[in-house]
Amino acid sequence: MSARVLVVDDIAPNVKLLEAKLLGEYYDVVTAMSGKEALEKADETRPDIILLDVMMPGMDGFEVCRRLKENHELAHIPVVMVTALTDNEDRVKGLESGADDFLSKPVNDVALMARVRSLVRLKMAVDEWRVRENTANQLGVVNENTSMMDMDVTGAKILAVEDMEFEVEKIKNTIESQSNHATMVTTGIEALKYAREDSFDLIIISLNLENEDGLRLCSHLRSNEKTRSTPILMIGSEDDLPRIAHGLEVGAHDYIMRPIDKNELMARIRTQVRRKRFQEGLRTSFELSLNMALTDTLTGLYNRRYFEVHLTKILEKNAQEQKTIGILYLDIDFFKAINDTHGHNVGDEVLKIFGKRITDNLRSFDLVARLGGEEFVAVLPDTDEKTAHTIAERLRRSIMDAPFKTSHAEPLDITTSIGGVLIKPESGNTITQVLERADNQLYLAKNGGRNSVFFEDSGKLDPEVFRPQSRPILNETQD
Ligand code: GH3
Ligand code: MG
Ligand code: MG
Repeated sequence: MSARVLVVDDIAPNVKLLEAKLLGEYYDVVTAMSGKEALEKADETRPDIILLDVMMPGMDGFEVCRRLKENHELAHIPVVMVTALTDNEDRVKGLESGADDFLSKPVNDVALMARVRSLVRLKMAVDEWRVRENTANQLGVVNENTSMMDMDVTGAKILAVEDMEFEVEKIKNTIESQSNHATMVTTGIEALKYAREDSFDLIIISLNLENEDGLRLCSHLRSNEKTRSTPILMIGSEDDLPRIAHGLEVGAHDYIMRPIDKNELMARIRTQVRRKRFQEGLRTSFELSLNMALTDTLTGLYNRRYFEVHLTKILEKNAQEQKTIGILYLDIDFFKAINDTHGHNVGDEVLKIFGKRITDNLRSFDLVARLGGEEFVAVLPDTDEKTAHTIAERLRRSIMDAPFKTSHAEPLDITTSIGGVLIKPESGNTITQVLERADNQLYLAKNGGRNSVFFEDSGKLDPEVFRPQSRPILNETQD
């Protein structure tokens, strides 16, 4: 994995120094010497991480960071502010402008590399979801683009493992001052218990626990399925730097040094919660759009888009396999009257029940889609004529036989008309032709009085012929 790092500093030797260090670790390095150039390079080269000097003439680092975070295309790129400023206030200002971390000059190599590696890894995870979201967008699903900086960071659930009493108070107060919920524990075992039972937005772990190694807890939480992607913020002291580097290596997201500055802790909590929620948002919107792209929200059946792709594939496959496919076009009879008499909600419920009945009365490998309105289609793969007729009649009966129970009206008698065709391998039909042929049969069924099945080459199917077997037997005994 060769990640690209954008190094921004107005002083050439500083740029050179960082560049040399990063090249030594096989990073691909891009440089910029002003805020303006930094924004241009970021847009052009799409780096995986940006190391940003704060004090620059013209546009300073804070402003660059703010602008990056305002840009939907660039906001997810991690930013590390690199500066001679050591004031806590500046750190907090940097974090507040959207930076992921703040490193002091002269830059400690271990800290730098650990930080770069861990942030690049985190970005890769976000990238993965961004790509998918993009694909989903291309499928034509309208999607709101949320910006990372707009994420709500309040109401987060935070678990903290710390056993020093005065720190416990401070951490708890800090967490709660932002209307977040704090769960404070003093041992790893307790932490694991809570982590198993609940979902947290962030886990804070002290690396200075009296009786155990916080790092072990970090790596344990990382390997656990449930907590794998929960951000971890480590707390350590100056001497812990190598262990902090190790922690970032095993997957902790961030760290803070003792003595803990409340504002800095607050800012780091916000950054982690924001990143987590942003990533979750991408994932959810991806899953949602995928669902929306393929299924009909009212009935949960496949939608027209999916059906078209699916049937096209089936038609291609069928040309080679020499099998026949049944296609049934179904349309509810006098559906408009149901809406008009009982209201649209009842109409919707009828559609749902209709979809379910059809699905329940088909084989698992048959496919049902709602093409729109009260029109449905069923695809019956590898089905001969007699079977297709039997299935079509069974579907028609399944609708007619039992009144539809909705929550707003008396049970309703519903019927459906069905047009059917058989696709033979040699016919080489396009999907449009197939649907047209089926629609013609449906038209005949509607014209012929509805509640009936018309099949190409067979005309109206005689319900008597397709009565379930139990009926004739019953009749026999009655006779
Ligand atoms: P026919 O027996 O000839 O099929 O008559 P019909 O009334 O069923 O057919 P028509 O195509 O005239 O009316 C279909 C109605 O379906 C009109 C439209 O308002 C309604 N409709 C379309 N989509 C929905 C929906 O999602 N929910 C509800 N409740 N109604 C819908
Ligand atoms: Mg209708
Ligand atoms: Mg219709």
